[in-house]
Amino acid sequence: MADALRVVLAFPSTYPVGITSLGYQVVWATLARRSDVDVRRQFTDRGDPPHGADRSRPPLDLFGLSLSWELDAPVLLDLLEQRRIPIWADRRGDGDPIVFGGGPVLTANPEPLAPFLDAVLLGDGELLLPAFIDALQSCRAAPRAERLRCLARVPGVYVPSLYAPRYGPEGQLLAVEPIEDGVTASVGRQTWRGNTLSHSTVITPEAAWPSIHMVEVVRSCPELCRFCLASYLTLPFRSASLDDGLIPAVEAGLGATRRLGLLGASVSQHPQFPELLGWLDQERFADTRISVSSVRAATVTPQLTGILARRGSRSLTIAIESGSERMRTLVNKKLDTEAIYTAARHARDGGLSALKLYGMVGLPSEEEADVEATATLLLDLKRATPGLRLSLGVSTFVPKAHTPFQWEGVRPEAEKRLQLLAKRLKPKGIELRPESYGWSVIQALISRSDRRLAPVIAAARGQLSSLGGWKRAYREALAAGGAPPLPSWESVVHGRWDPRATLPWQHLEAGLAPTVLREHHRQALQGTGL
Ligand code: SF4
Repeated sequence: MADALRVVLAFPSTYPVGITSLGYQVVWATLARRSDVDVRRQFTDRGDPPHGADRSRPPLDLFGLSLSWELDAPVLLDLLEQRRIPIWADRRGDGDPIVFGGGPVLTANPEPLAPFLDAVLLGDGELLLPAFIDALQSCRAAPRAERLRCLARVPGVYVPSLYAPRYGPEGQLLAVEPIEDGVTASVGRQTWRGNTLSHSTVITPEAAWPSIHMVEVVRSCPELCRFCLASYLTLPFRSASLDDGLIPAVEAGLGATRRLGLLGASVSQHPQFPELLGWLDQERFADTRISVSSVRAATVTPQLTGILARRGSRSLTIAIESGSERMRTLVNKKLDTEAIYTAARHARDGGLSALKLYGMVGLPSEEEADVEATATLLLDLKRATPGLRLSLGVSTFVPKAHTPFQWEGVRPEAEKRLQLLAKRLKPKGIELRPESYGWSVIQALISRSDRRLAPVIAAARGQLSSLGGWKRAYREALAAGGAPPLPSWESVVHGRWDPRATLPWQHLEAGLAPTVLREHHRQALQGTGL
């Protein structure tokens, strides 16, 4: 179409990483299917050719970015500069594109990046994206301010410039409120309730998982582990219909590749998961390599491990969070120690050679003895299942918006506890894959901040994963003063917040109401003395 909307859809990492993001692929395909949109992709290492020159029209109508990891946030600014788009939303004029964002990081808390964004799409793209594009088409000739008002009327579209934070005398956030009549006081996340979910639209050997066809089996997770963004942010739990959703989605991709990935926060909780496995056990899939994302330990069965082994998988991933029963109860994991042993036995007996476990340190009220319990569990598990290679991926607890642990801080003790696990496990032949403590601190800073962080993000560019660089940028912003002042680093990253305080994301709705989150938080911590 000659006057199609000119869109760039960016990803804040390289092509192999970006094209392996099912969310990115689906947004791109939704836009590419429309005849009234001309969409080009941009990654940090390459991109599609630019739109053709047409001096009678602005070079770009829309620039979008999907953000799945907090540490990628500064890359947005680099990508904008590459396109010669002003990085600050309030410096953009009528000839500049609308800059929009989506993905879990921005749906949870877009506030630190709000000054760089014109619009944020909250929730599932299936309904949201078509409505957003239709709205922009209806007002594309209008001045920029009018276009933004038009987009803000689409359910699930948050236009940060139409809201302003109000602070108390000591810089405490009191509210984030609409600045004009007709703008809703809060923005609700949009939820797709159809009986199909997403699957790959691009299969390429260049992907981080080469030539994989990804099929989304479930969305969200019903387990409600108290720290878990993948569960709380995207509620309710939904599963794709087996006959109308999953089977056609798998068939569609297996014409092009023999590598299948079943994705979702909690794949094995699909109500027809055993039937799906049975269907995949047919002889005609004998040359297909099947992998699943992490499954709940309590749902590991001989059927699951047997078929994974027959279909080329060597390992299975389960998240245990901690070897301490007390910690697992605290986070609502509903997983007893015996179920972990059973999962390991099923993995080995089914023919898998490795079990990858995921854990966490620094949870609220955790003591060193709880971390020792994780080391002991791994060592006992190794003795109980000889022949099964064990590894532990371990991260530091990071508070996430819209979860019951959003009020808890990163615990500085976590850094030593990561080292303690390394000391206990590495000499005994258990591979440890710790996530950097420094990265966790930066993640928490971006997860829990408000708009006052934006200049720090701009200053920290080029220091993506250097904790020292971020701390320096924060110190300099504090020293520069300004009103309202930045909150202290300590309170944002490590502070236990008062559950009655206004949260930076309070005007944005997610899975559960704040009163329910407060109750889950209270239940989790009761009896701990916190
Ligand atoms: S089981 Fe896994 S995905 Fe589900 S809530 Fe717990 S941590 Fe999140």
